[in-house]
Amino acid sequence: MTTIAFIGLGNMGGGMAANLAKSGYHVAAFDLVEDACERAREAGCRIAEGGAAAVGGADAVITMLPAGKHVASVYAEDVLPNAAPGALFIDCSTIDVATARVTAASAEAKGFAMVDAPVSGGIAAANAGTLTFMVGGTAEAFARAEPVLAAMGKAVIHAGEAGAGQAAKICNNMLLGATMVATCEAFNLARDLGLDLQTFYDISSQASGQSWSMTSYCPVPGVGPETPADRDYEGGFAAPLMLKDLRLALEAAEASGTATPMGRRAAELYEAFVAGDGAKKDFSGIIRMLAED
Ligand code: NAD
Repeated sequence: MTTIAFIGLGNMGGGMAANLAKSGYHVAAFDLVEDACERAREAGCRIAEGGAAAVGGADAVITMLPAGKHVASVYAEDVLPNAAPGALFIDCSTIDVATARVTAASAEAKGFAMVDAPVSGGIAAANAGTLTFMVGGTAEAFARAEPVLAAMGKAVIHAGEAGAGQAAKICNNMLLGATMVATCEAFNLARDLGLDLQTFYDISSQASGQSWSMTSYCPVPGVGPETPADRDYEGGFAAPLMLKDLRLALEAAEASGTATPMGRRAAELYEAFVAGDGAKKDFSGIIRMLAED
């Protein structure tokens, strides 16, 4: 049976490691936070004494960490010096494209295959094993990672070479941030023009203004399917995580010399929302801030 080292058992990693254990993998898990380790132990994982101890002897290493700097240091200190020959590396964190590429190149230089495999879907999808993985790496590395990722998700898509998973993730989330802001302001204008918001939804969701932000994640309470808007914008996809992804997109756009004026404006608006009362709210809650302007 395959042994998997899992480092980073937070909101997302906890559920993902539990699903691997449920699927029959031996999971050697580690997090700096003791409570997170305890929850993983209850879910059937073996808790290692540290990152290095988790990695030793594992057939695959999965990381689910906050940001690029954490991934870089865990790879430099725990993963690269301790991995068994032939181990496969899978980083599921959302990080900058440059760090993803540099980390994959360092792994390759030491003879290891690595994929970046960021996810779409939040904590509920991590717990339910219904994440979507966007994977960057060689075809061989993807083929090895696919069955492991399938135990934690509903879709595993090969996006291209190293870093392509991160590129797909930030392009998608930049689009999501911009369409959410646009959807919110369209609803605010519709209301100020005297339109019934359910009627506007019925029309626009079948017209050219339709988007996922409108029909699957409507920011207006009581309109469309049930969404965080119906729970006072609690739960869902936290605004600070949207801001993180928008910043990653802008950083990548700067490096590639790509004009992304809508992405930039969305990032400015989410910065204001998070600095105000949006830090603990779902990202669709920005509709309230926009209504106040
Ligand atoms: P989190 O902060 O809840 O979890 C990260 C965990 O990593 C923490 O428990 C922390 O203690 C641990 N950690 C940090 N450094 C470590 C180290 N050196 N060794 C061991 N453990 C270490 O974050 P999260 O919400 O689980 O998100 C993880 C990643 O997934 C992020 O990159 C995030 O952007 C991405 N993501 C999150 C969501 C979401 O809805 N939460 C959705 C999609 C993608």
